[in-house]
Amino acid sequence: MSPVKRLLMHLAEPMLINNYSLECSASIGIAFYPQTHKIDADGLIRQASQALYQAKQSGKNRYAVFDPDTDSMTRRKLEQIEAIRQGLLQQQFVLYYQPKVNMLSGEVTGAEALIRWQHPQMGLLPPSYFIPVIEQHLLSVEIGNWVLESAFQQLDQWIGMGLPQSFVVSVNIGVVQLHDASFSEFLVQLLKRYPRVSANQLELEILETGAIEDMSYVSGLILKLQSYGFTCSLDDFGTGYSSLTFLKNIPARTIKIDQSFIRTLPQDPEHFMIINSILGLAKSLNRQVIAEGVESILHGELLLELGFTAAQGFAIARPMPAAELLEWMAAWQLPAAWQRCIALPADKIPLLLAEVEQRSCMEELQQYFDGQVDCPPLLDSSEKVEGILPQMCLNQPSVDAVHGSVCRGTTSSYWKKRNRWSLFIVKDK
Ligand code: C2E
Ligand code: MG
Ligand code: MG
Repeated sequence: MSPVKRLLMHLAEPMLINNYSLECSASIGIAFYPQTHKIDADGLIRQASQALYQAKQSGKNRYAVFDPDTDSMTRRKLEQIEAIRQGLLQQQFVLYYQPKVNMLSGEVTGAEALIRWQHPQMGLLPPSYFIPVIEQHLLSVEIGNWVLESAFQQLDQWIGMGLPQSFVVSVNIGVVQLHDASFSEFLVQLLKRYPRVSANQLELEILETGAIEDMSYVSGLILKLQSYGFTCSLDDFGTGYSSLTFLKNIPARTIKIDQSFIRTLPQDPEHFMIINSILGLAKSLNRQVIAEGVESILHGELLLELGFTAAQGFAIARPMPAAELLEWMAAWQLPAAWQRCIALPADKIPLLLAEVEQRSCMEELQQYFDGQVDCPPLLDSSEKVEGILPQMCLNQPSVDAVHGSVCRGTTSSYWKKRNRWSLFIVKDK
């Protein structure tokens, strides 16, 4: 047993004083010397006191050891929070806007406001640099309120410039702000301050993970906000371990499928199935869905064929400064490939899945040819002789025989229509 544990044990032993049995316990804080950094006696005692406080906080009658690494991390975090606060005071934050479109009609339906920090030394910083630092801190409410106010201001200005009343700006709401008692009142005040902006022009994007924490509170809040006319959506859906009960009980009108599923859609059969299931679920629960992370024309084609219409992503536009948005809207045109796409009937969805599986198989095959993996992809027996190979694979020694233009009966006209690849037969090595 370590000396400190023995000390605690002895101190906890009952003492007989004037026939009374008295018990006491001790909490011990420990700091070591020497340390990698120079430290004087006062500093060492301060560290031991800090560890003592920690021991008491964790339930007393125990010891805690001061950890210089944790201490410097805490100090660094406090410095970062202070720098962010100064940034806010000095008006260094800006909102960028990323358009959301209807991929069928070509209408630009709205834009998501995304915060950036225009840092005087480090340049334009993304939210990943500072949002996680303040996520659990009250400063996130101040920043969140600044974002809401700026979005209202911007909408008001755009409305004055002729932006249609149907255009919706969405704003991300952090967990602490969501639970802030004055949140809905703040929104009502903003509506009064900007009378040209109507509540249905503002959408509140709530993180699925933030809503799970206190489902009944959040669902009550969403109902209240929606009764004022605001729209609520569940952001990053699919990442927060939510159950079907959760989806049923959270009355958010829109589900934003997380971009981690969408980005890999063209080559990940499992993500394809998940996205298709979420779409079915959303339809049966009467919710809207939007796909974020639409990075290429192909993503859009697949999504349209699955039955999606609402989308956001780099293939449409990257987030841009507010001053550029109206000009972008005037110039944007629906990609020609999307104009040709229609939602496929349910019995044709397996064909889309087959396409995704083939692409996945091709990627694995390419990795095999490149020597990145030891084994070629396993095809199930029905596909053993049929595979779709892009030209790049044809001269590979492991492709034993290649026969062109073989199409599987039912899928043949489909592949021809899409005209994406030739079809070949591949044999094992
Ligand atoms: P989010 O709300 O899911 O926003 C979408 C993020 O995905 C944005 O990153 C956007 O630039 C990026 N994105 C959009 N389309 C694509 C695409 O096709 N491909 C790829 N790779 N990325 C795409 P951003 O601006 O860096 O924001 C990251 C996250 O930071 C946001 O995720 C949101 O959770 C948070 N955030 C941003 N602004 C705010 C804010 O004002 N308040 C709070 N609380 N969080 C914010
Ligand atoms: Mg969002
Ligand atoms: Mg998201």
